[in-house]
Amino acid sequence: MALRDYYHTVLDLFYPRTCFHCNCNLNDACEVYLCHTCKEQIPYVKDTYCTRCGATLGPYATVKEDEGCSRCKGKKFHFDTVTPITHFDGVVRALIHKFKYAKLRFLCQTLNEIVTTRPRLKPIVEEVDIIVPVPLHWLKKFHRGFNQSELLTRGIQNHFSKPVSTRNLCRIRNTVSQTYLSKTKRQENVRNAFKVKRPGMFAGKSILLVDDVLTTGVTASECAKKLKEAGAGRVHLVVLAIAEHGK
Ligand SMILES: [Zn+2]
Ligand SMILES: [Zn+2]
Repeated sequence: MALRDYYHTVLDLFYPRTCFHCNCNLNDACEVYLCHTCKEQIPYVKDTYCTRCGATLGPYATVKEDEGCSRCKGKKFHFDTVTPITHFDGVVRALIHKFKYAKLRFLCQTLNEIVTTRPRLKPIVEEVDIIVPVPLHWLKKFHRGFNQSELLTRGIQNHFSKPVSTRNLCRIRNTVSQTYLSKTKRQENVRNAFKVKRPGMFAGKSILLVDDVLTTGVTASECAKKLKEAGAGRVHLVVLAIAEHGK
């Protein structure tokens, strides 16, 4: 047993740790915030998804390169591809809620692990020049204490050693939450909510845009639009979780 394991064992005697999802006792040193059972229930998105919108595809689904799947056909997105890591469901949904709304910032360690250990992320990160999080308005960031997408971006940066830009794309309007708005209202809500301060920084660069939850794609698409107006080449979107019921 390594010294580190003794340390955790002794620590566990005095401060018993519990799983953030099911509240069972954590005894294993490598279980940081989630137990093995909950880890096994992480709803990862399987390999059959539409790279245009991130939707999971059925066994008989057909996807045409520029038209997309039945979910995104006829929709215009400004990002070039979407890489979803998990479904916005179960353990992940609960963790994201605790992370964002109960402001349990340290849970980002677990969420970062879920993202960076997915093999599908590597080739996309290798292709881009710079990683950019979907920004929060400064007032919202001030109240929450952090931007969840920025913490995910930092996780990817630490894992792959890629440059990050967290301030050049910014949110200039403090929009109301998209959660209860219709599709049209969501589009109006985010129109011109973002701005690139120094376009030269993104000109000719391919960008990895990072968001925590993808619902309709309207917000991320508006960000990608601004990045492309600033001269960016391809914009790839990676999302921790995709909520497919929000069409
Ligand atoms: Zn658990
Ligand atoms: Zn699609």
